[in-house]
Amino acid sequence: MANKKNNFLLLNYFKPSIYLESYKKINLESLKNSGIKLVMCDMDNTLISFNERIPNSDVINFVKSVYSHNMEFVLFSNNIRSRVENFAKKAGIKNYFWDCKKPLLGKMKLVKKLMPYKETEMVLIGDQLITDVLVANRSHIKSILVSPLGRNNGETKIVQFLERFILKRLAQKNILHEGFYNEGELGGKYEIL
Ligand SMILES: [Mg+2]
Repeated sequence: MANKKNNFLLLNYFKPSIYLESYKKINLESLKNSGIKLVMCDMDNTLISFNERIPNSDVINFVKSVYSHNMEFVLFSNNIRSRVENFAKKAGIKNYFWDCKKPLLGKMKLVKKLMPYKETEMVLIGDQLITDVLVANRSHIKSILVSPLGRNNGETKIVQFLERFILKRLAQKNILHEGFYNEGELGGKYEIL
């Protein structure tokens, strides 16, 4: 019995605050109204696919739009410096972190130290449960899960397997169903966990 309960609690660590098809569906006005001041974002498969290097105009417009809503933008990637830096510069992103080792907390702690925002004012957008959503929940910040841009996604086999496994468990527990986005909540309050 106790074991069952623990399993359920553990799964909650993989539950995003919001689930959308793409970053393009994010309602920045609504995020701002719910008190978000810092938008953190994963790069690979969230903003570009693994086989691209250069941000397209949608990405550039999204970043511009975040800034024009008076929110700060941070690119928060597990990828290597050269790829992250090149992408960030071309997308007009001023703050970027590479080699973040999500779901470990080190770089997240650094962001919290460097930037003057409370946890309730931060959100992380990403396509993976076991890196992005997990690090967000472990850091007590909100998260937006988006569907990955590419299926053949350059992750190791074990990461892909775990991602599928957790998705399946979340569906079994009726916590999250793949492809069933909660865009309906966009006008309302975003809730965490
Ligand atoms: Mg990703």
